[in-house]
Amino acid sequence: MMRIFLKIILSFLFLSFQTVYANTMKVNDITFDSSDSVIFVATSGSEGEVNIKKGILSNPERIFIDIQDAILTKKQSSYDFKNGNLSNLKISQFSANPPVVRIVMTNSPGFDLKNVKVMSIGGNIIIKLQNYKPSQNYLTPIYREVQNSAYDYFEKVRINQVENESLQNDFPIALSPAVPPSVRSNTVVIPTDIKNITPPNEPVRINQPFLNSKLLSRFFVSNAFVKNGSIVISGTGIVNLEKVFYLSNPERVIFDIPNSVSDSKLRNKIFMLSEQETAKIGQFSPTKTRIVITSPDAHKYRAVYSDDLQNLLLAKDDSLKNVKLFSTTSDILSINVKTSQEYKTSIHKLILDFSEPIVHSLKRNNNNIELKLYNVNNSGIEKIFNKINNSDLKNSQINKIGDIGIFISVPIQNDTTIDCLENLNAKRLVLMLKSPNYSTQIQKNTKHNLSKKTIVIDPGHGGSDPGAMRENVQEKNLTLDIAKLVVSNLKEQGASVYITRNDDSFISLSDRVTFSNNLKPDLFVSIHINASENEEVNGIETHYYKDNSIDLAKYIHKSIVSQFDENTNRGVFKSRFYVIKNTTAPAVLLELGFISNIEERGLLMDENRQKKIAEKITEGIINYINNTESK
Ligand SMILES: [Zn+2]
Repeated sequence: MMRIFLKIILSFLFLSFQTVYANTMKVNDITFDSSDSVIFVATSGSEGEVNIKKGILSNPERIFIDIQDAILTKKQSSYDFKNGNLSNLKISQFSANPPVVRIVMTNSPGFDLKNVKVMSIGGNIIIKLQNYKPSQNYLTPIYREVQNSAYDYFEKVRINQVENESLQNDFPIALSPAVPPSVRSNTVVIPTDIKNITPPNEPVRINQPFLNSKLLSRFFVSNAFVKNGSIVISGTGIVNLEKVFYLSNPERVIFDIPNSVSDSKLRNKIFMLSEQETAKIGQFSPTKTRIVITSPDAHKYRAVYSDDLQNLLLAKDDSLKNVKLFSTTSDILSINVKTSQEYKTSIHKLILDFSEPIVHSLKRNNNNIELKLYNVNNSGIEKIFNKINNSDLKNSQINKIGDIGIFISVPIQNDTTIDCLENLNAKRLVLMLKSPNYSTQIQKNTKHNLSKKTIVIDPGHGGSDPGAMRENVQEKNLTLDIAKLVVSNLKEQGASVYITRNDDSFISLSDRVTFSNNLKPDLFVSIHINASENEEVNGIETHYYKDNSIDLAKYIHKSIVSQFDENTNRGVFKSRFYVIKNTTAPAVLLELGFISNIEERGLLMDENRQKKIAEKITEGIINYINNTESK
């Protein structure tokens, strides 16, 4: 009897919750802008209506933001910040009935919580922290040509995960800590009379934070207007552009702002720039704002970055003479050109330091890159000319722009990729040119370093055996991706290369060994991705078992870890893995990073990282063969 009664109550509860869910907003994620001025709360299902309440908790003083009618779909989390306006932020499902998601923020000394503003753009919630204090050292990308690189989207901060597992339950009936009615606030502006409230139960934090976890940075396009036949795009966060491209019939130029969200009132709005020129703003994808300018002079448009990096002026080059672009004049403090070599790539960095924030534009053409510094004193232009032309960026052109301003044009190859980074105070600009280099040491020495060599590459797991898994990412796919890249690199070097599996199929360990032993290869490399219960652990390990494999392990390991941070080097180990124990050839097993570490997982999925790892494995194999043969 009792049971039936309970069942009826539960099913009634369940039904009533379902109806609540139907109109309930989902809070999916929280991300932090690298400018330290914006926090972005991504939501869905709100249909543009967001109901937010703010208030203050005491002992210590903290601000809370309650998102009404909302379910948290991500894990509740606690974030610690080393510097900036906030020292901590927590997000949790505060109450289930009514469903309320709560964000609690603790300020850093000197930051007044009253400077926290909450707004909503496109149904998402933006928490704006005033007292914008740019970091002196952090360089943020403002222009990039390589897309989807994990490095571009993330910044280092410390994150703590929350311990209380019961709160991560999807079905929130039992989870709500009682909400004292007095804690609720009905105002959007922080009322001063809500102080001295007992803090509610807050999630318990694990003391050891993730190190080096990274977060998204974003730009929010909140306004756009026409000025002197040009369009100003204005917002919050740090603006960043992708490589501009052109379309014809009619002539158009496309400016994409990655990792950005535009206000819905701006979307698809057409701005008349002149009788025959228009600009249109659209949300091209959930994370990309696109501005299309239709003009017979589409190719003349360039993007001018404001000194606060929060505004873009899209204007024709010749019309810029009529626009007052700056209020301060800056001197160049230093110019440096640094050249480095990576495998198959040479990198030139032009590093410019200024006395004041700069207003600049960047235009990439097929054969050159044009950098215009509009508010920079040009009296010492010969010095700048000499400095750049005596460096590896020779044949650059440097000219004055009117009384104030410098124009630098650097020749590039068609296949050069450009990255531009700027310090958040706009006093340092770094232009990075990456050019494919076909004359690196490896290629120069011998075209066929590895001819007459037979190599077996063994991508770990496959088919019904996914290997390690986190967040839908499976080891078997990462190992196959990287293995295929290694195979193609080795073939380029003239080796006969065999792979134990070339698709997502299951191959037993003994079959892998038999396959290799029948081929009698010169060496065997097994590729794996590591995992740990401890989500902080990251780095690269190389394993060998037999004495004939020690040199191979050392050469490959040295080559890979030389490419990455020091903290990725976990070392070379003697381990009894089946495939390296039972193959006859010198054999190693590589653990190329941890799928369980949020940052490393992101990196391992990044194609550029995979290529880099594959190149370094190849380089290690070449070094091993060259050095052991000459003995
Ligand atoms: Zn594995």
